[in-house]
Amino acid sequence: MKDVICNYCGRKAELVDSKVIYGTSYGMMYLCRRCNAYVGCHKGTDRPLGRLADAELRYWKKAAHAVFDPLWRQGRFRGQRKAA
Ligand SMILES: [Zn+2]
Repeated sequence: MKDVICNYCGRKAELVDSKVIYGTSYGMMYLCRRCNAYVGCHKGTDRPLGRLADAELRYWKKAAHAVFDPLWRQGRFRGQRKAA
């Protein structure tokens, strides 16, 4: 297990099975119970995919997709995805 520090509270994140979070096992994840922030691992390893994300960050990521994805699908921003 690697030391993965929560970027919100600075504590060490716990390595847990994803079923603790999702109720289904997709693999291992790092979890900060205090912030409810977590990040998945590269398949079959204990290497984190990136930084821990809390609920708010996940919410905004999702919200941004909900807004932009239909527009991209319509081709309105063809070739402008980077700019958007
Ligand atoms: Zn934390």
